[in-house]
Amino acid sequence: MIIVMKPHAPEDAVQRVTKAVESKGLETHLSRGKEVTIIGVVGDKNRLCNDNILLLPFVDKLVPITESYKLVNKKFHPEPTTVTVGNHIIGPNTLTVMAGPCAVETREQLFIIARNVKAAGAQILRGGAYKPRTSPYSFQGLEEEGLRYMQEAGREFGLNTICEVISQEAINAAVKYVDMIQIGARNMQNFQLLREAGKSGLPVLLKRGIAATIDEWLNAAEYIISEGNPNVVLCERGIRTYETATRNTLDLSAVPVIRSKTHLPIIVDPSHATGVYSYVPPLAKAAVACGADGLMIEVHNDPEHALSDGPQSLTFDRFDRLMEDLNPYIQLSERTL
Ligand code: PEP
Ligand code: MN
Repeated sequence: MIIVMKPHAPEDAVQRVTKAVESKGLETHLSRGKEVTIIGVVGDKNRLCNDNILLLPFVDKLVPITESYKLVNKKFHPEPTTVTVGNHIIGPNTLTVMAGPCAVETREQLFIIARNVKAAGAQILRGGAYKPRTSPYSFQGLEEEGLRYMQEAGREFGLNTICEVISQEAINAAVKYVDMIQIGARNMQNFQLLREAGKSGLPVLLKRGIAATIDEWLNAAEYIISEGNPNVVLCERGIRTYETATRNTLDLSAVPVIRSKTHLPIIVDPSHATGVYSYVPPLAKAAVACGADGLMIEVHNDPEHALSDGPQSLTFDRFDRLMEDLNPYIQLSERTL
């Protein structure tokens, strides 16, 4: 980190800052310009309270030179990480497709969807058993019963499974039934939940928060990994902007940006990003073309009667067509399904 002093800061002000830094066991390096003095700080900056330094006379600003996240940082871990989910490996050589209903509604509904997404080539079955709905009066999910159906459907059709968790109670239940847990956009900065997800031992899909910057998202991933769980996959699912034509705005630039900053895999969810089924296929192709490690797609046997997110869900026919249409993009990205 660099501390920039205000122009013409007097020597005693510079000394006061260096003493404050050194008293915390860090080293300082002074660079005196004609007008501005800057103080380089070397050492564990967690020992320093930035706000207190900013309060000292003649301090202009603090400029970080390394990111606050370490374990997810590509600088310290250049090789891409692969994450194993059941018998499937998410990583550089494969395109992972997670598909299924927004919410598990009934056993029959889940089984018919699982059969169809498997036949189309998906490797992971998604389905929400705990639904973080905007309204408390909307369908909230089947909870543990839904997790049980996910396990049964996964076993029946040879699919790995992922479910969102929204509480410690949900994590405790999920570890008994599913192969991967999901932290949804609304919980991306629920730091206690992130820690508990880290402790669960299950691989974690971490969705980007509705208004999260990439740095905030990577810091959220750092929370999970710092609990000793390196199996984190990131999911871009759109962010809130001024545009209202789509449910959110899909930030595809996040894919190459994330690639440049972290070794963690990244997948894209065009369903929650757009909220409209007809926009899902073009953005799914674009995501693969720009290097995403996978996709999360909502698929429903009867979208018109879905208990949640029907308008963005693909029918079986549309999902089949998308999976076929993805082939040239998969080949271009030198991956296999
Ligand atoms: C979901 O995947 O079911 C979901 C609620 O997504 P998000 O957290 O991205 O809104
Ligand atoms: Mn949904």
